[in-house]
Amino acid sequence: MSKVDIDWKNLSYNYTKTDFRYVSKWQNGQWDEGALVEDNMLSISEASTALHYGQQSFEGLKAYRRQDGKIQLFRPDQNAKRMQDSCRRLLMPEIPEEKFIDAVKQVVKANEHFVPPYGTGATLYIRPFIIGVGHNIGVKPAPEYLFCIFCLPVGSYFKSGLTPVNFIVTDYDRAAPTGTGRVKVGGNYAASLYPHKLAVEKGFADCIYLDPLTHTKIEEVGAANFFGITKDNKFVTPNSPSILPSITKYSLMHLAKEYLGMEVEERDVLVDNLDEFKEAGACGTAAVITPIGGIHYKDNLHVFYSEKEVGPVTKKLYNTLYGIQFGDVEAPEGWIVEV
Ligand SMILES: *Cc1c(COP(=O)(O)O)cnc(C)c1O
Repeated sequence: MSKVDIDWKNLSYNYTKTDFRYVSKWQNGQWDEGALVEDNMLSISEASTALHYGQQSFEGLKAYRRQDGKIQLFRPDQNAKRMQDSCRRLLMPEIPEEKFIDAVKQVVKANEHFVPPYGTGATLYIRPFIIGVGHNIGVKPAPEYLFCIFCLPVGSYFKSGLTPVNFIVTDYDRAAPTGTGRVKVGGNYAASLYPHKLAVEKGFADCIYLDPLTHTKIEEVGAANFFGITKDNKFVTPNSPSILPSITKYSLMHLAKEYLGMEVEERDVLVDNLDEFKEAGACGTAAVITPIGGIHYKDNLHVFYSEKEVGPVTKKLYNTLYGIQFGDVEAPEGWIVEV
């Protein structure tokens, strides 16, 4: 394998083409073997359902370089299962868990020299996706599907340590109460671009979505899940059928309980009762945890721990999960898969 000339410490989150990607086709009722290819362009029918009716789903996970140089994945089985949920909701053929994980490993191995060195905080981001393709014009499931995975090196989200950011509550909804909010599909993201733009224009990192039915409860922080630490030290996160179940969130819940001895609650989080929290954060694969400095709601900025500094519980949660992902902290059984 050739060495690549990359400034690992100053990587952004922009697309870069790596050497190999995986493509598998579903045709005549079954998936083919799948193969690694070098071409990063897809050629599909102009009448593909993915292009017109949003019949598609994606996932996001990372490969981490450990101190001993080996490469590991974090809970890829959870991404495989979540993609199966998405496929069921949009009537797309499911990808068997084994095929999913095997394909991820193939892509990482083939692009091994793009996995950033340990200690840089950088990782290899992996993007699996499935799209409905083939000739079709009526609103119905596609006759054929492509399951693809590409990867790219990405920098650490926080180059100078964890930094809190502020968010603003939006009047827009990202999903309907029993719509597609709980599955990882592109349509949810198309709907989020405009409220995101408005939030950024007002000087916030992103917007916070309330529950679509009553607009009284916090649901998502941009494209990340919300958690708060109550004044009596409970880890609390919203419970709703329109929230995307974040693997990072469920991992943090487990760590809060089993590693930090905290009580954990999945329940309503009222936007009028933010005072119950001493700390708050957003979580997802990209940043692990984004500490929330304050939330702007009805002309008032509610500050949690501080707009400048990270609270101690958030910091501990972050260090524990980050340590597990890079192989420095012992992981719960089954969380780590070596490539
Ligand atoms: C992917 C995603 C998340 C984060 O999920 P992780 O599995 O933790 O990466 C949160 N919210 C939305 C809307 C998402 O699409």
